[in-house]
Amino acid sequence: MSRRIIPVTDLSAIPDISGAGEIPRGLLTDTLARPLRDLRISVTDRCNFRCVYCMPRAVFDKDYTFLPHSALLTFEEIERIARLFVAHGVEKIRLTGGEPLLRKNLEFLIERLARLETPDGRPLDLTLTTNGSLLQRKARGLKDAGLTRVTVSLDALDDALFRRMNDADFAVADVLDGIAEAQAVGLAPLKVNMVVKRGTNDSEIVPMARHFHGSGVVLRFIEYMDVGTSNGWNMAEVLPSAEVVERIAAHFPLAPLEAHSAAETAQRWGYADGGGEIGVISSVTRAFCGTCTRARLSTEGKLFLCLFASNGHDLRALVRSGATDAEIATAVARIWRARADRYSQLRGSEAAAQRALDERRVEMSYIGG
Ligand code: SAM
Ligand code: SF4
Ligand code: SF4
Repeated sequence: MSRRIIPVTDLSAIPDISGAGEIPRGLLTDTLARPLRDLRISVTDRCNFRCVYCMPRAVFDKDYTFLPHSALLTFEEIERIARLFVAHGVEKIRLTGGEPLLRKNLEFLIERLARLETPDGRPLDLTLTTNGSLLQRKARGLKDAGLTRVTVSLDALDDALFRRMNDADFAVADVLDGIAEAQAVGLAPLKVNMVVKRGTNDSEIVPMARHFHGSGVVLRFIEYMDVGTSNGWNMAEVLPSAEVVERIAAHFPLAPLEAHSAAETAQRWGYADGGGEIGVISSVTRAFCGTCTRARLSTEGKLFLCLFASNGHDLRALVRSGATDAEIATAVARIWRARADRYSQLRGSEAAAQRALDERRVEMSYIGG
């Protein structure tokens, strides 16, 4: 029997556009004074990996029903929505998924997005997060289409462990070849994200640091998060970033670096010997909701204000109902101004525990990382 585990249409509100007039422009801030600066766009809910912490095979099996093509936002729709977000202050767009490189002709979307400019005429920071399996083949085309840089996810260098973690028998060598090609075509600075699960791949922390030390790649360690409901998350499997830093510093002395910006999610550490830097993203042990400027557009056009949100705002319905740019922009402005999400800050509180029981959160593969 086919099944969906993501309640979408029933929970998603169609945004209110009553009284919309002129296109509202300019920077929006939410109820916690956070501006809207980043937009993550999920271009597909499908993936060729079955990472145990994201799309466990037991749930995302052959009976799982992915979205039909007609449900996906078209490239024209994505560009239109993105343009309105850019008018509202978005400076950075990240394409994600599922596996974004599985979306057919993604380069055409990148070409469209690369032409967008901030209101004061600057190009966007246009990037993409990928599992790297198709990157060797696609890096040149992505760069030529106007992509600025990429982030590649890689959880282990040990081939057997990597195959177990992606649970689809992909080899580490394919991802490393993709990283090399992305660097060769100038998709830089290239970042590699490693999700650390205690007892699963924490033995790979130091080998990964050693491998990318001095390579120009910025390696970032992400705490395993309680996203969605399918991965059976357990706090005991979270290895705090502070311990990651300690383990690496025992081999390569590290010194803290200044953040690039207040909204940066990673804490940066530099190798004392000049071998580059690493970052740690402490989504669980050190919440950064206070500076969270990210909105997320799901594959089927629902706007989510937090990675842990249960409800999206149905921008696709609005777009397909014939709404004008002014009406869509008004909806976005109203939604962002009402935003109060700060799940990670509240995690562990009684309220958050109750909410987790009451509501089902969306999956990372649906909303994008
Ligand atoms: N498929 C692409 C990839 O893996 O890079 C893009 C989508 S994936 C959902 C985006 C990022 O989310 C990846 O870096 C992945 O490792 C991370 N991720 C997925 N589930 C996670 C979890 N439970 N905790 C922390 N990070 C997670
Ligand atoms: Fe696919 Fe990325 Fe999720 Fe792994 S983390 S299953 S590669 S979407
Ligand atoms: Fe942003 Fe939500 Fe993550 Fe907090 S929990 S940092 S509000 S996405």
